[in-house]
Amino acid sequence: MILQTRCLCSGRSSPRIVLPFLRLRPPPLVLLRKAHTSKTSKRQYGEITIPEIDAKWLARWEDTPRTFQSPSTSTKPPYYVLSMFPYPSGTLHMGHLRVYTISDVVARYKHMKGFNVLHPMGWDSFGLPAENAAIERGVDPAEWTDQNIETMKTQLKRMGARFDWSRELRTSSPDFYSGTQKLFLELYKEGLAYRAPALVNWDPVDQTVLANEQVAKDGTSWRSGAKVEQKYLEQWFFKITRNAPFLRHSLESLRGKWPDHVIRQQENWIGESSGSRVKFPLRIADADGSSHEDALKIYTTRLDTIFGVQFLALSVTHPLVQKFSETDAELKAFVDNIPNLPVGTKAGYLLSNVKAFNPILQETAEDGTLLPAGNFDLPVFVAPYVLGGLGTSAVMGVPAHDQRDFDFWQENCPEQPVRFVIVQQGAKDRMVEPRVVTSTTNKIFAPGITKSFLNENCGQYAGLNCVVAHQQLFATLKERGMALPSKRFRIRDWLISRQRFWGTPIPIVHCGSCGSVPVKDEDLPVLLPKITLTGKGGSPLKQAKEWVKTTCPKSV
Ligand SMILES: [Zn+2]
Repeated sequence: MILQTRCLCSGRSSPRIVLPFLRLRPPPLVLLRKAHTSKTSKRQYGEITIPEIDAKWLARWEDTPRTFQSPSTSTKPPYYVLSMFPYPSGTLHMGHLRVYTISDVVARYKHMKGFNVLHPMGWDSFGLPAENAAIERGVDPAEWTDQNIETMKTQLKRMGARFDWSRELRTSSPDFYSGTQKLFLELYKEGLAYRAPALVNWDPVDQTVLANEQVAKDGTSWRSGAKVEQKYLEQWFFKITRNAPFLRHSLESLRGKWPDHVIRQQENWIGESSGSRVKFPLRIADADGSSHEDALKIYTTRLDTIFGVQFLALSVTHPLVQKFSETDAELKAFVDNIPNLPVGTKAGYLLSNVKAFNPILQETAEDGTLLPAGNFDLPVFVAPYVLGGLGTSAVMGVPAHDQRDFDFWQENCPEQPVRFVIVQQGAKDRMVEPRVVTSTTNKIFAPGITKSFLNENCGQYAGLNCVVAHQQLFATLKERGMALPSKRFRIRDWLISRQRFWGTPIPIVHCGSCGSVPVKDEDLPVLLPKITLTGKGGSPLKQAKEWVKTTCPKSV
């Protein structure tokens, strides 16, 4: 038998493949039995055809569907075999046969060992390919998906696998995605699902967000082939970073059981780094003319540069920014405009009501007690270049020794001098005087930590090697209750907004007065509207005007 295998998931076509096992002689047991009962010459030894055997048993299993069902009343020990549900792309390919043969072997083995085996099959039937196919063919994505499922189901049945079809499910059916929506709302209530502007991979042809895995090495889209752009968009995330320490810790239990290189890949993905969490006191001016104090926690791996801090910057997702933008219309406009800013923007918004104090400058009295914070003179900005969700969503800006901080400083405070605090070993210029630096006249200095030392701008720490200074500065701040050791992880929250239309509707209503409001449980599922997909720009949901303009769950 020759199959043309084509995977619509990747859009690639693989060469014709001859299924080798269909050319083998049938196993002896079957041959003997068949030879014994044969009546025609065709049924003599060696002349039995697999398709005939297939047809006989497929018909038998079709007539008695209970053969492979897993009754919930069974007293046998239960065993669950679950393979990944296929995406209904149109036809099965060799990859499907391979994976489902493996799970079928396990299911049959466990069945023969006396287990009540549940081996279900279903369809991972939401996704962009269905939407694209629907646009190309001018059909409803649901219709296209259902047709494909019928074709693939027939093929899967011909494979003769031991699936319990009475448990079949498809993720695009409202019965199923009602559950998806319930789970989403549970995560939302726990703060594990949230919405934030994020820099995403944007496919200008498909008009959709792409996962990193969908961007080819040459920077083009895996499907459309278009050059992928970077763009800020409001996106939904799952807060998987909350589990980063647990994930990292759990890897230890796999050592010696999993291949080393797999564990290393996981370690790199989680990407743990060690640094310090430093508290910067804040003074916030209130509307009535008074002021109050607060503190900002900042993660840094370069505490040795703390004397060079000239500003603090908050990500747009920082809780303080969200709080201030409720009363500061200009700030809200800045945040709202971020999606329109170019990639790598150094734009900043100065929070004029907030000033910060550098905790290393706090002085002590003669008896060793700490004096109150002195000059609150550090400006605090909101800056899109600070990543939300990483560490503390806030950075200490050291323009002299960090390129990104310098670029931001130059953009927002071009006339202000830069204060250098670290000097490379052997350098003649100790760079003590602050100076106005421009990228054409001078380069900033990103110091390596081992071969540099602190200059005279660092008080009692001047002359110390950066590594030693780092340890001493941390000890001092820790004693004052202003620093703690901290871990940070490279793992990012999981961006889930990917489909334009053919996906589970997110059950949140955006209300002009209440903000984001979860749909009530009894109103689930939120059904996808029926619309015609044109593939022309923007969200297809714009067409469904009645669906988009709904009532706020809080007002009914
Ligand atoms: Zn409302």
